[in-house]
Amino acid sequence: MLIVISDNMEQRVLDEIRELGTVEYKPENLENSIRNADVLIVRSATKVTAGLLSKAEKLRLVIRAGVGTDNIDLAAAKERKVAVKNTPEASTNAVAELALGVIITGLRNVQKAHHQMKNGEWKKKELVGNEIAGKTLGVIGYGRIGRSLAEKAKALGMRIIAYNSPAPDGKEFVDLDALFAQSDVISLHVPLTAQTKNMINREAIAKMKEGVFIVNTSRGEVIDEEALYEGCKTKLKGAALDVYKSEPYTGKLLELDNVYCTPHIAASTKEAQERIGRSIVDILKEFK
Ligand code: NAD
Repeated sequence: MLIVISDNMEQRVLDEIRELGTVEYKPENLENSIRNADVLIVRSATKVTAGLLSKAEKLRLVIRAGVGTDNIDLAAAKERKVAVKNTPEASTNAVAELALGVIITGLRNVQKAHHQMKNGEWKKKELVGNEIAGKTLGVIGYGRIGRSLAEKAKALGMRIIAYNSPAPDGKEFVDLDALFAQSDVISLHVPLTAQTKNMINREAIAKMKEGVFIVNTSRGEVIDEEALYEGCKTKLKGAALDVYKSEPYTGKLLELDNVYCTPHIAASTKEAQERIGRSIVDILKEFK
């Protein structure tokens, strides 16, 4: 079995995968390498397009190490009878913890304080923050990660409201306008779809309260970045972003000192990578 791995993979996981077949790791020319591959393993960087899939003569399985399969042309894969699997549970806790961390540090201006001190400034008066206890957290997308964040935030005293489509039963569910109107913090945990693209746009921001803090660890395209830029310059407390429309991100949101950025690292913990690795190995063993 020829297994082509086109994105970064932990050494320990690589070693385990090597026991299950011949591995070609990060080939220079993926279009050539995929020709004879039985399995392709990707993270989020490789775009598995219809064009790339058309080069594959033997491919039977694409494994997405992670959650979102929006970098894979699922229709083209289905047409070519290539199965697509992901590791949906493995990164849940890592992403939820990062989201919680940036909510607390964002509300307390920790990143801003850090930069000011590095610049030799001591501006205590500018750095009066807010506590999360008693504040309302609006979770958009109440799946694995959204729920995990909600549980943690609830334990720390936040009031949780959520919007999910389709809406399950539960007293925490509200419609999107109510979520915008009531939340002090809004955290995004939806997949990227035609419905969620640009979900946070000018209209949405107009419906939010003054001083809302927005967290996005889902997908960059869920936010209209231009609208967020304007919002962060006017009514919003700020934002913490892990994902961007175009990655690596170098755009103008980086100019704002109330926008805190991380380079798509929400799932990048040793623990999550180990869980992802174990899931990949299980999928491969089942597939063999
Ligand atoms: P999930 O499928 O468990 O949850 C997504 C939820 O969103 C579901 O409950 C679904 O019903 C809901 N939903 C779908 N469309 C909606 C819409 N239009 N409006 C409202 N709700 C909608 O997925 P998850 O494991 O919780 O992951 C959520 C997203 O987080 C992933 O799709 C992925 O894009 C992102 N993610 C990012 C990282 C990172 O490194 N930053 C890591 C893992 C996952």
